Amino acid sequence: MTTPTRKRIAVVGSTGSIGTQTLDIVAQEPESFEVGLLTAGSQVDLLIQQAMRHRPSMAIIADTSKYAKLRDALEPLGIETAAGPQALTDAMDRPDFSMVVTATVGYSGLAPTIRAIQAGKDIALANKETLVVAGELIKELLKVSSSRIYPVDSEHSAIYQCLVGESHNAVECLIITASGGPFRRWTPAELEQATVKDALRHPNWNMGAKITIDSATMINKAFEIIEAHWLFDIPGERIHAVVHPQSIIHSMVEFRDGAIKAQLGLPDMHLPIRYALFEGTRWPIAPTTPRLGLKEMAELTFEAPDTARFPNLQLAYRALKEKGTTACIINAANEVAVAAFLRGEIRFLDINRIVEATLDKVAHIASPSYDDYVATNDEARRVASDLMLR
Ligand code: MG
Repeated sequence: MTTPTRKRIAVVGSTGSIGTQTLDIVAQEPESFEVGLLTAGSQVDLLIQQAMRHRPSMAIIADTSKYAKLRDALEPLGIETAAGPQALTDAMDRPDFSMVVTATVGYSGLAPTIRAIQAGKDIALANKETLVVAGELIKELLKVSSSRIYPVDSEHSAIYQCLVGESHNAVECLIITASGGPFRRWTPAELEQATVKDALRHPNWNMGAKITIDSATMINKAFEIIEAHWLFDIPGERIHAVVHPQSIIHSMVEFRDGAIKAQLGLPDMHLPIRYALFEGTRWPIAPTTPRLGLKEMAELTFEAPDTARFPNLQLAYRALKEKGTTACIINAANEVAVAAFLRGEIRFLDINRIVEATLDKVAHIASPSYDDYVATNDEARRVASDLMLR
């Protein structure tokens, strides 16, 4: 009998929605996985709890003001601790894990993901901003690394599953489904008045605040089109979004012979996370886990997205046409605008206005280096913040 080897994983952003669901799966599959590293932004109490349960060799908190609490709780247990974004990025080189689940939200996921790729770690990619901001750079790094990327985003996991056994030149187009968010039927006048509470009420998915707002503005779908381009090497004009309010079909691929393959499932992230952790192999779920039934498939409907009410969607095509730093500017302005909206400082439709205005003001760089992305991100944040002060 051979001793089963458990895969050691790092969870970057372990206290968020994807992070906690990843740790659920690790707890359900103790013979397959163990945790080498946990990192969190600022939720120190939950991080301590997770570290006590999963016993990583190290735990890191990005918010340095929470460090003393982390250290005092975990160092007596023999768990190393550290704080700050640089410590987090530096930890990606550690030998005690082979896969990194990038479950953070936003631009902050970029630096650790780059380091993890350079260190040859496999990536279960939930942080879509990494590919949105710097897809070109990531592709270059992957050429000289042994890292493999397994998408966790439900749409990209669906496309990945549809492409198994298919050749790249057989693909006609990718069809990314969108729920349409909470405002699918709202008029422009109603959208002007939309509140934070309205925007956080997603019809199908239970996710963190940032991505829920991004779904409401549909910039999330724009990001997913960009992400799909970099993951699957299909040009933007052959990647389409379709509104599918039931969120049962997670995305589709149309082939040159006219066939369309779709992946269906409940709107639950456990399946795409499991598929990524198990590197694309099918692992049985517990008998008590809910499965998709015929009842949920009785009515599957589709409609074209309304780009007049949701202009953010078109930003994907602009970003893929211009390449360079365009998507980096869009992402930075959006992060600043969404944070301001969540604080009640701007209105819902201002989010798109600020993104478009920032794009007009920040210089585009055609072939950016890593430092160019960093500088552009800083500049776009400054410009977006200034626009809100007016
Ligand atoms: Mg998604």
